Amino acid sequence: MKGNFFRFNFYYVLSLLFLLVFAFEAESEQRRNEVQELNIYFGGLHSHTSISDGELMPEDAFRYARDVAGVDFWAVTDHWYAFDTSGAIGFQAVDSKSNGQKTQGTKRGNSENFRILKEHAKKESIPGKFVAIGGFEWGITEHINVFNTDTKLKLSEWMQLKSFYNWLRKNPDAVAMFNHPGEGGTPVWDDFKYYKDLDSIINCIEVINATAGSYEDFVDFYFMALDAGWHLGPAASEDSHHSFWGTRCECRTAIFAEELSEESILNALRNHNFYATADKNLRLYFLGNNNLMGSKIALKRGENINFYIKVVEPDGEVVSRIAILSNNKTLIKEFENDKSQFEIIFSIPFESVGEEAKYYIVEVSLQSSKKAISSPIWITPLN
Ligand SMILES: [Zn+2]
Ligand SMILES: [Zn+2]
Repeated sequence: MKGNFFRFNFYYVLSLLFLLVFAFEAESEQRRNEVQELNIYFGGLHSHTSISDGELMPEDAFRYARDVAGVDFWAVTDHWYAFDTSGAIGFQAVDSKSNGQKTQGTKRGNSENFRILKEHAKKESIPGKFVAIGGFEWGITEHINVFNTDTKLKLSEWMQLKSFYNWLRKNPDAVAMFNHPGEGGTPVWDDFKYYKDLDSIINCIEVINATAGSYEDFVDFYFMALDAGWHLGPAASEDSHHSFWGTRCECRTAIFAEELSEESILNALRNHNFYATADKNLRLYFLGNNNLMGSKIALKRGENINFYIKVVEPDGEVVSRIAILSNNKTLIKEFENDKSQFEIIFSIPFESVGEEAKYYIVEVSLQSSKKAISSPIWITPLN
């Protein structure tokens, strides 16, 4: 009797366990399928026109990006001095980097310029088809792109990083991006000194910038900024200073968004639901415990993190390697492949020292040496 009772319980527990595992697997599979149904929009967040030191006008840039490059969204982000409300700052509209030609004469900063940029963006946007965004690029040495602000830009307030940060604090709806970190030995925002109140405003960092025509890779700075405590996702930009936008390189920022609207794009940037890719249409899905890249998860030490990674290169290029990296660019795992699709499921126990969050990032390499890199999944320790 006793024996039967235990046997009964043993089988009962076993089948319950089996059901639980089965339910978890079914839920995971459902979630993976759902995620692959999400919209990924490909575009650029950094380019210039003749409003500052590029060529032609914002409407030309937006039309070209939309109709020739075929991107889903595009931002024109001319240099800040062109938008000075006082008109006091003169600048030389120099060196279009594509041909090294100098435009003669000095321009004046003009408060009208920002209004024109915003107007062109509105005019060239097509709901559900193409989002044109007007922003600006701040900076004398180190540069920062800013989106979603009004047109009254008071130059006198932000000659230094500190005063610019103060201005940014007064614009909590803005979305900002660290541009081409450390390019040419420029300082990196006071060594990425972390400010909690700016963390929700500065959401991106360029890891690829192709202003010189070939890619410059800033991935190491991405890790430096994350290690300093910033919550950032990676962007890949053309930083166009010529009369074509989105065709000089295939670099794109790829965004998981509900719909193709500026608000939806900005929200996805705030939530770090995006990745940087040097391939124009590479699809990268990265889940931690069924949560999309950009998520923050709380776990007890020793609990498992279940990773799901899927990469699809629609044009048949071979996705040769996937690496999972963590704090201090520590390599956690790597996988090799010889196909244009790559799907990986694996688990690791969560280990963390102290209160610090740990983050995990996926780095994808194509055989052609093109790269993609994900936003992090952050894990905070539960006590
Ligand atoms: Zn710049
Ligand atoms: Zn620029």
